[in-house]
Amino acid sequence: MAKIQLFDTYTREVREFQSLKPGKVGLYTCGPTVYNFAHLGNMRTYIFEDLLRRMFEFNGYEVEHVMNITDVGHLVSDADTGEDKMEKGSRRTGKTAWEIAEFYTAEFRKDLARLLIFEPTIWCRATDHITEQIDFIRCIEEKGFTYRTSDGIYFDTNKLPSYGYLGRLDIEGLQAGARIDMGEKHNPTDFALWKFSPAGEKRQMEWSSPWGVGFPGWHIECSAMSAKYLGPYFDIHCGGEDHITVHHTNEIAQTEACYGTRLANFWLHAYFLQLDDSVRMSKSSGDFLRVETLVEMGYDPLAYRMFCLNASYRQKLNFSWDGLDAAAKSLDRLRAITYELGDPGTVDEDYLARFTEMINDDLNMARAIALTWELVRSDLPPDVRKATLLKFDTVLGLNLSNWKPQVEEAPAEVLDLLSQRQQARADKRWQDADAIRERITAAGWELMDTPEGPKLKQRRG
Ligand code: AMP
Ligand code: ZN
Repeated sequence: MAKIQLFDTYTREVREFQSLKPGKVGLYTCGPTVYNFAHLGNMRTYIFEDLLRRMFEFNGYEVEHVMNITDVGHLVSDADTGEDKMEKGSRRTGKTAWEIAEFYTAEFRKDLARLLIFEPTIWCRATDHITEQIDFIRCIEEKGFTYRTSDGIYFDTNKLPSYGYLGRLDIEGLQAGARIDMGEKHNPTDFALWKFSPAGEKRQMEWSSPWGVGFPGWHIECSAMSAKYLGPYFDIHCGGEDHITVHHTNEIAQTEACYGTRLANFWLHAYFLQLDDSVRMSKSSGDFLRVETLVEMGYDPLAYRMFCLNASYRQKLNFSWDGLDAAAKSLDRLRAITYELGDPGTVDEDYLARFTEMINDDLNMARAIALTWELVRSDLPPDVRKATLLKFDTVLGLNLSNWKPQVEEAPAEVLDLLSQRQQARADKRWQDADAIRERITAAGWELMDTPEGPKLKQRRG
């Protein structure tokens, strides 16, 4: 198999990828918290993960791709305080937490489809895996890493010497700077594994457990479900950059405590999409851009995919309308050119090898796109260019094969004028025919007499 190099956040270096099982890749990608719509920033991370998966499939690997749906336990603050995002969403909309989860999961899948992001091979909901999470917490407890406070069962990060390595956390600095509002936690980095339902309050989502009625902490679902579907040590774990210091750091701590592994061989993170040079997009801020927003504005959602393809996933990306317009334009051009190349022939091996090398080089999609344009302009026969473009598109995901130019359908009255004109010409009433042509022009349509008969084209400007 061809060489694949990836930047691993755990070691902070580009390393050669070797799969743990021959020909297979186990991939876990943290999924959405379904209390609101996903925004374009979230979708940047999912596009990156989709490209990663497609790159492996392009190289002949079978990818076992697991994605979770966080439908419980993600609190408003990453420090395990505040309300559960689902219960808060429930108060905001007047729907039950369960209905909200259902609704936003369906919306999320719609967004995936519109961006041609493959669905995972396994979806898993946190609320469907409460037993697995309880068992996992038990395992951590048996190994001596937990303690109890009045509001839950916590992970004692001080007991794990490697704690915080992924995020290169300055544990001593954090300890020294810990504020009083640590509550009953022993260390500022300790986190909840199980939270008790508040006394006297019935939550919509709560379960009994060996420790009391409550709900799992946010991080435990990913350790428990990845272990169930991919085993306690698998190839790659992904997410957005915000997950490095808290969520993924805590997932690793849980799995290390229970199984002694660092969960995944590679840790890959997509950097944020931001609205200007500093403001990250965030679901909790309320005013964010969605795929739906783009559709309403008349954009093809794949223009956003094209926009993302031009930048390295390891750098923050500034969203701009100019950038999106430019991406939309080049996508249109690429599709029109591909269409005009006609039927595909055989793939050009040299271009294929160069493309493979670029995508295998830590997903260098900007170079792969530049190569695509080079191929388009090359003097290879059209059918070879077409076949090679379609092959590239199995990774790019720009729907190059199915695209067709839109046939402009003239309104009924213009079609009626056209048939009147045809009749006038057949009757050799040339003046009438010319007068009707002028009426067609006045209605905003251009009439062209071609060898295959008359054609109508909408006039612009
Ligand atoms: P959430 O639904 O908030 O749990 O986030 C879903 C995914 O989107 C996670 O992998 C986050 O790290 C990622 N994410 C959140 N905000 C952004 C952003 N502005 N740009 C890119 N990825 C993001
Ligand atoms: Zn996760």
